[in-house]
Amino acid sequence: MECIFCKIIKKEIQSQIVYEDDKVFAFLDIQPVNPGHTLVVPKKHSVNIFDIDEEELCEVYKAAKKLAPVIMKAVNAQGMNVSSNNGKVSGQGVMHMHVHMIPRFEGDGHKHWSHKKYNSGEAENIVKKMKELLKK
Ligand code: AMP
Ligand code: ZN
Repeated sequence: MECIFCKIIKKEIQSQIVYEDDKVFAFLDIQPVNPGHTLVVPKKHSVNIFDIDEEELCEVYKAAKKLAPVIMKAVNAQGMNVSSNNGKVSGQGVMHMHVHMIPRFEGDGHKHWSHKKYNSGEAENIVKKMKELLKK
């Protein structure tokens, strides 16, 4: 079965198109967190941050930067969450890379993610591992 976002990009499935260029497609999320919730996706299929080409990723975020003030103004938002879910466990439901642009309003009731504390030495160990991996 073909990817739903690839079908949206090819206009085989209808969407509310916000923006399109050679590399990038942006359309309204069908089940918005808030009105104006827009998805920015690369035209070339990739699953997420782990497999997307650097160039494609840059194009997606360049479009996100261009669209941010436009979306904000269109719905009179006071802020915006720009984020992407990568992998099923993170909440990624559609396996075509996408950036959520979610307009935020004072008192819209959406909660920020919860926070934890590190155990003693845990942060240092994680950073040590990261630095070793960065050397490879
Ligand atoms: P994620 O959970 O990060 O994979 O987000 C996928 C998003 O795609 C969800 O917010 C859905 O509401 C949205 N979505 C799924 N199908 C469609 C569609 N046909 N048109 C627009 N948005 C869609
Ligand atoms: Zn796709």
